[in-house]
Amino acid sequence: MEITHIEHIGIAVKNLEEAIKFYEEIFGLKCYGIEEVRDQRVRTAFFKVGHTKIELLETTDTDGPISKFIDKRGEGVHHIAFAVKDIESALKQTEGKGIQLIDKQARKGAEGLDIAFLHPKSTSGVMIELCEKKEETK
Ligand code: ZN
Repeated sequence: MEITHIEHIGIAVKNLEEAIKFYEEIFGLKCYGIEEVRDQRVRTAFFKVGHTKIELLETTDTDGPISKFIDKRGEGVHHIAFAVKDIESALKQTEGKGIQLIDKQARKGAEGLDIAFLHPKSTSGVMIELCEKKEETK
């Protein structure tokens, strides 16, 4: 598989507005977009840090994956997203090497990216997201 860069780092937060304020006031970053991703039951906020982004994730559902994550481990880094050239073939290769996938097929994530998660049990405890930008959106 060909990874081009770290697309973003996903951080689970309890309160999106407070977390946005923190990143803006302490680090001088500017939140450029807030988006609800129904499929993942989250509200996300994005910041650009060079070629990489910070994605803050707040649950919209007490039973959602981010809610469960925070219950278990508290707020903090939730996943690292690698930008890949061809997500379908990257998933096939990964599965072929015995890595457990959360998503066998790519689905739509925030910012219109095609995304898929690998299971942290198979990746040394780090949730890895693969993503591909299929069409240019500027
Ligand atoms: Zn993500």
